Amino acid sequence: MSNTSFFESVEKNFEKAAQITGHPRGLLDQIRVCNSVYHMKFPVKIDGEFQVIEAWRVQHSHHRLPTKGGIRYDSMVNEDEVMALASLMTYKCAIVDVPFGGAKGGIKINPKQFGVDSLERITRRYAAELSKRNMLGPGLDVPAPDYGTGEREMSWIVDTYMALNPGSVDGYGCVTGKPVTQHGINGRREATGLGVFYGVREACGVAEDMAALGLSAGLAGKKVIVQGLGNVGYYSAKFFQDGGAIIVGIGEYEGAIYNANGLDVDDVFNHRKSTGSILNYPGATNLNVTAEILEQPCDILIPAALENVIHEGNARNIKAKIIGEAANGPVTAEADEILNAMGIMVIPDMYLNAGGVTVSYFEWLKNLSHVRFGRLNKRFEQNSNTRLVETLEELTGKKLNADEIQRIVKGPDEIDLVRSGLEETMINSYHTIRQQLKSNPACNNLRTAAFVVAINKIASDYLAMGIFP
Ligand code: NAD
Repeated sequence: MSNTSFFESVEKNFEKAAQITGHPRGLLDQIRVCNSVYHMKFPVKIDGEFQVIEAWRVQHSHHRLPTKGGIRYDSMVNEDEVMALASLMTYKCAIVDVPFGGAKGGIKINPKQFGVDSLERITRRYAAELSKRNMLGPGLDVPAPDYGTGEREMSWIVDTYMALNPGSVDGYGCVTGKPVTQHGINGRREATGLGVFYGVREACGVAEDMAALGLSAGLAGKKVIVQGLGNVGYYSAKFFQDGGAIIVGIGEYEGAIYNANGLDVDDVFNHRKSTGSILNYPGATNLNVTAEILEQPCDILIPAALENVIHEGNARNIKAKIIGEAANGPVTAEADEILNAMGIMVIPDMYLNAGGVTVSYFEWLKNLSHVRFGRLNKRFEQNSNTRLVETLEELTGKKLNADEIQRIVKGPDEIDLVRSGLEETMINSYHTIRQQLKSNPACNNLRTAAFVVAINKIASDYLAMGIFP
C-alpha cells in the first residue's frame, strides 16, 4: 500500500509539472492550495434516534465561478480525500475548457446501511448546511453525483435549494446530474463512461503511439478489464464492448471474474443483480481477492472504483499496456513512476473521466437558458435537409429509400447534441495534452503533460486578473 495520502499524491504530480511551467512560486502555490475547506457535523434523526453526521465541502479554486464537483457517500470519506478530489476537479475543468473552479463534497456514511428515508434526510440537511453558508447555488458552487450518489440525491438537493430560495429563476442550475424529468439533461447518466470510451479510443487511434506499445491501432479486438461496475465502470465497459473491444475481466468489491474469450457486460450486470454477486458467472474464472483483477492479462485496464488501487505493492504486476483512469486517483504517485518506467501508457483521470463534468456543464447551461438543446433548431434543420434531398432527387432523377432519407434529414435531438459536444471535447483535449507531451521534452508522460496544460490555463486566468502582475 502507499504511504502517500491521496492529496499528497495529487500535489506530487502537480509539483512535477509546476517546475516545468516556469511560473512564479507564489502563483503556483495559489493554484495548488485549496481555497476553502468546510468541515461540518450535523444531527439527523435516524429511526427515531439522533445521529451525528460528518461531512465536507472543499472549494479548491475560486479563479472561476461557480465551483463544481461531485458529492461522495462512503464510510472512508475524509478531509484529505475530498481535498484531493476537489483539486483534481480544478485541473479537469481547465483541461476540457469547462469554465468552473474545482470543488468536491463528501459525507462519511455507508449509504448501504441507511434506508431511503434516512438518506433523504441526510442529503437534505447537507444541502441546507451548504446553502446557509452560501456554498450552494448556480453561481456559487454546483455539486453533482460521485461515488455512492446519483440522480436521486441530486433531485433531493435541488428540491431543498428551491425550497430555501423560492423564486430563484436559475435555481435549477444549483446542482447537475439531476433526473431528466427534474431539469436534468439527456446523456448525463452515461457521460463519464462515454467520455472514458472516447478518450481511450482517441489514444488507441494514434498508430505511432500504439506501435510504441506493441499494439495495433484502433480499439477493435483489444482486451479490456474494468474494475468497478458502478455508474462509470458499467457505462465504460458497455461502450468499449459496443465499440468492438473485448471485456475479459470485471471486478467488484465482492470479487472478480475473468474470461480471456470475453464477457457480456449486460449479462454480467444482470447475473450480479439476480444472484447478489459477480462471482460464479458461467464460463468465467472466479478471483476471490478482488484486487487480483488488476494484474490479469489484458491490453487496457480501466480502474473505475476508488483511488490508490494501483500502488507500489502491485504496480510491477500490471500486464496491461494502457491504463485508463476512469476513477479519480486510482494510481498513486509512486506507482505512476513505476508504470512509466515499465513503458505503460497511463491516460490520466483529470482528462479521462472529464466527460461527467463536461455534460454537467451542458446541463447547467440548459438550466440557465431554460430551453432544451435542439428545441429551436431541430425542425428547422430537418426541413432544410428535406428540401435539399428533394432538390438532389429532382436533379439526379434518383430516389433514396425512407431509411436513407431519415438518416440524412433528421434534425438533432438533445442527446445527439450532448454526445457530439462530449466527443468533440474529449478528442480536442486529448490532442492538446498529447501535443504538449510531444513538444515539451521535460514532460515524460500524459499526466505531467495534462498538468502543464491545466496549470498554464489557470495561470493565465490569474495573470489576466492582474493579481500577479
Ligand atoms: P458508483 O458508486 O456508481 O460505483 C462504484 C462501484 O465500485 C460500485 O459498484 C462499488 O461496489 C465498486 N467498488 C467499490 N470498491 C471496489 C473494489 N475494491 N473493487 C472493485 N469494485 C469496487 O461510483 P461512480 O460514480 O461510478 O464513481 C467511480 C469512480 O469514478 C470514483 O473514483 C469517482 O470519483 C469517479 N468519477 C465519477 C464520476 C461520475 O460522473 N459519477 C465522474 C468522474 C469521476
